Amino acid sequence: MDWLNHLIWHGGKFLGITWSVWKVVGWVGNVIFSTRFFVQWYATEKKRQVVVPVAFWWLSLSGALLLLVYALKHHDSVFIFAYLFTWIPYIRNLVIHYRHAREQRVCRQCATKSMANANYCANCGAALTAKPVDAMSNV
Ligand SMILES: [Zn+2]
Repeated sequence: MDWLNHLIWHGGKFLGITWSVWKVVGWVGNVIFSTRFFVQWYATEKKRQVVVPVAFWWLSLSGALLLLVYALKHHDSVFIFAYLFTWIPYIRNLVIHYRHAREQRVCRQCATKSMANANYCANCGAALTAKPVDAMSNV
């Protein structure tokens, strides 16, 4: 077990890395940004079709911003440019997602969500109300 202890913690380094606050910021950003791939993969496998869940965009945004902060701190132009503009599509996708979710209509008969322009429920055929129903008030 000494070899394991030597591998994990040796010479004041954890996993061979000299840690600092900025190193933690960079690694947390890296872990968050990498996690998004597993979230997207899981959602796709679960639904058996390509899905990009909203969590993917939140993980992309938060991970990329942490990595940008880390890159700015270290004045790494390659790394800065890699994350300087990525937040734009992430935020745009989040805005579109929440706008779409807000405009959906919820069937009063079966609670199935439909597109904002739908007149009838795709699940049960009930007529949908003229005004979109807030998904949270469907109790
Ligand atoms: Zn319905």
